[in-house]
Amino acid sequence: MSDFDVIVVGAGPAGLLAAGRVAELGGNVLVMEKMRQEGRKLLITGKGRCNITNDSSVADFITNVYPNGRFLRNAFSQFFSKDIIELLNKYGVDITLERGGRYFPTSNKAADILQALLKWVNELNVEIRCGYRVERLIVENNVITGIQANGQEFIARRVILATGGKSYPATGSNGDGYELSRQVGHSVEKVRPALVPLETRGGVAQRLQGLNLKNVRAVVWVNDKKKGENFGEMIFTHFGLSGPIILTLSRLVVDELHNKNKVEIIVDLKPALDEQKLDNRLLRDLNENGKKRIRNVFPYWLPAKMVPVFFDLLELDPEKECHQISSKERKQIRYLLKNLRFRITNHRSFKEAIITAGGIFTKEISPKTMESKLVNGLYFAGEMIDLDAKTGGYNLQIAYSTGWLAGNSCMKNA
Ligand SMILES: Cc1cc2nc3c(=O)[nH]c(=O)nc-3n(C[C@H](O)[C@H](O)[C@H](O)COP(=O)(O)OP(=O)(O)OC[C@H]3O[C@@H](n4cnc5c(N)ncnc54)[C@H](O)[C@@H]3O)c2cc1C
Repeated sequence: MSDFDVIVVGAGPAGLLAAGRVAELGGNVLVMEKMRQEGRKLLITGKGRCNITNDSSVADFITNVYPNGRFLRNAFSQFFSKDIIELLNKYGVDITLERGGRYFPTSNKAADILQALLKWVNELNVEIRCGYRVERLIVENNVITGIQANGQEFIARRVILATGGKSYPATGSNGDGYELSRQVGHSVEKVRPALVPLETRGGVAQRLQGLNLKNVRAVVWVNDKKKGENFGEMIFTHFGLSGPIILTLSRLVVDELHNKNKVEIIVDLKPALDEQKLDNRLLRDLNENGKKRIRNVFPYWLPAKMVPVFFDLLELDPEKECHQISSKERKQIRYLLKNLRFRITNHRSFKEAIITAGGIFTKEISPKTMESKLVNGLYFAGEMIDLDAKTGGYNLQIAYSTGWLAGNSCMKNA
């Protein structure tokens, strides 16, 4: 049996920040990671480029975190985007600010972020044991005394759980932490996939597979009521819809699907033009090209891949000449350009979800310290807490900030 000030469970970004901070404050810390390698998920973030964090203010961060961003005010005030950037810079990572306030390593390699964090914790003599799966928390009279991993017991005065969520389970985050927490009396808000692609009815999305649209607006309708919208980029896939704006809207959609509501996404392909301006544009193009076949004019308005799909949806003869297009047909074209409708039948599974919504109830965690309100000496950090955010580097910042605060509090409360 070994004896540690702190044991951290999980060597993702939250766990590494927690362990590093404990060691900075002089603590003797052990990190238990069940995979053979640390930070497996971190390596695939941002399509392998890692969107490290965002340059938004604390207030903006808070509004972009669900369901209770205010829970993070203290964590953000103690360790925020400038702090992680400073730390990474110190360990040799150059960072570039991109569109949307997103920070990436200049090398475009997520591996550089992991390496820098590992270099930091190694310098501080943090001990990491990979291949150790924590299977039980040891609690006596509401006080944590250690953990059990691979059948062995390890004693510690404090334990920080940073086991991640349930998405992309092949990276190691398969929901273990929820079960460990339940065993010691914590409640877990229903976990569901978030930032996840959506499946659609009918074959339209499938026919458009691979097509990427920029500057479009997607509106979510639930039981025929408008519930949310987003503007930007999306992509069609072999099962339905994906891409940044769809992933962002998915948080709302998943909940509505679980509530068995009718969900539709209506895509406005011409959001910059109101009905009148779009009509003027169609009229002008039709008049100027009166003798041309309509199939040769549609590409003025749409990506080529969409043209045959539009003719089918409109039941319009592509061989018609432009001067033969009636005002009713023009109205139908205009309507479809602004209302391409998809019935959402399902969401993809945790295997394809960037983040997990739900998790350990924030009401049972102190926002000042990240300590459990139920078990003395137990702390939480990262994605396993019932907090999730939109894309843009917000989710990783939640992991660093809560990890750092948990590590800091462990030592300050000692
Ligand atoms: C494809 C993809 C792309 C993403 N891109 C971005 C991005 O660019 N920017 C961004 O901000 N966010 C991104 N995210 C989200 C981000 O990766 C997570 O929010 C973040 O990794 C959460 O950190 P964490 O430390 O809480 O959990 P994790 O990174 O999941 O780490 C948890 C660790 O705990 C270990 N573990 C679990 N159970 C046990 C156990 N019982 N015993 C021991 N160890 C255990 C796991 O093996 C894992 O290593 C992305 C996610 C995915 C899936």
